[in-house]
Amino acid sequence: MECENKPAYCNRGSIQAPGERCVNVEMVEVHPGDQKLLAYLYNAKPPHATPFEFAGMVIEVQAPIMVYREWHRHRTQSYNEMSGRYAPIPDINYLPTYDRLLQVNEQKKNKQAGAIKDAPPFTSEDAGEFIEDLNILYNMEEAFYQRWLTRGAAKELARLPVGVGRYSRMRASTNLRNWLAFLTLRADPAAAWEIQQFAHAIGKIIEAKFPRTWKLYCEGRIGK
Ligand SMILES: Cc1cc2nc3c(=O)[nH]c(=O)nc-3n(C[C@H](O)[C@H](O)[C@H](O)COP(=O)(O)OP(=O)(O)OC[C@H]3O[C@@H](n4cnc5c(N)ncnc54)[C@H](O)[C@@H]3O)c2cc1C
Repeated sequence: MECENKPAYCNRGSIQAPGERCVNVEMVEVHPGDQKLLAYLYNAKPPHATPFEFAGMVIEVQAPIMVYREWHRHRTQSYNEMSGRYAPIPDINYLPTYDRLLQVNEQKKNKQAGAIKDAPPFTSEDAGEFIEDLNILYNMEEAFYQRWLTRGAAKELARLPVGVGRYSRMRASTNLRNWLAFLTLRADPAAAWEIQQFAHAIGKIIEAKFPRTWKLYCEGRIGK
């Protein structure tokens, strides 16, 4: 997780702590008093976390379906995904890089990211062949899809061979507290590398839009 303390700059939005005056949480002109209160709410034991539920973000994401499978486990976010029943899914597929493929040799501590037991070391040559094979499969998959779309099969059935490497598009919405909980789980090195990249990107957005909460998150408790 990349957490850096940046100067706070805000221009819009506020939240109200229960029984408190209106707290300028983020995107508002920064009042030093609010910053103190914000830190108090965030760091209290137990934390007064609900004020952080009054700010939020909707983001649009294009990601491989394999990433959505993990992402959609976060049941408390709201989602809307492009429907392959209304329009054909664009032919955009995820091809891992050599470096990504070779990470498998460094995953001794993270079983989920490793190879099967007693598998041989995975070489650069293997990585090259893997990418070639995957490309062939993606092309076959798309050829099937297009053939049966043009022959009049239902869109929802023509897509059957489309795999988890295909990119889809969705909107995801949740409040700031919950985005931080998402980052705690998915920016962690134990998470799959692909979803980690999306989590880091969301961290950058939060840092830009909610700099004071980001600073508290980097230092503190909620979502950790
Ligand atoms: C590294 C990693 C590996 C994983 N591996 C697997 C795996 O192998 N297989 C697999 O199936 N999943 C796996 N998961 C998914 C994981 O089990 C969670 O489903 C996912 O991280 C969402 O977390 P969450 O439930 O906290 O989020 P949300 O669903 O957004 O829930 C947020 C919080 O709300 C509360 N909550 C939500 N729903 C309920 C409920 N029904 N009952 C009680 N409390 C609820 C909980 O407090 C929860 O923490 C993995 C996750 C990670 C990060």
